[in-house]
Amino acid sequence: METLFDKIIKRQVPADIVFEDELCLAFRDISPQAPTHILLIPKKPIESMAKLNTEDQALMGHMLLTAAQIAQSEGLSEEGYRLVVNTNSAGGQSVYHLHMHILGGRQMQWPPG
Ligand code: AMP
Repeated sequence: METLFDKIIKRQVPADIVFEDELCLAFRDISPQAPTHILLIPKKPIESMAKLNTEDQALMGHMLLTAAQIAQSEGLSEEGYRLVVNTNSAGGQSVYHLHMHILGGRQMQWPPG
């Protein structure tokens, strides 16, 4: 099923895009939970972490490295930042297209809510 994030990939819904390559897209969250809040998504429409399989191994490695590069380019690396992947309902996922939240610019708390 097509999600909002598929529409952002296709430029049918506007977004503040900060990075794109052939495999993934990153844009600023519309409701930021930190001074920097970016969503990184694969262009492949994977619903959630729970739907990953072994053929996604290289893609997920690419996404982690890309998240680290985006954090670096946003000036977050030295102070630190948080990567979050909410998964299915108990994980707090609301858009069923896998995404990594890159959050930074403030002190994070633990445990998360
Ligand atoms: P999650 O709750 O982990 O599924 O995260 C979904 C995220 O998408 C939330 O942080 C929303 O604020 C964000 N979001 C929803 N609609 C948009 C949009 N049109 N552009 C950017 N981010 C959005």
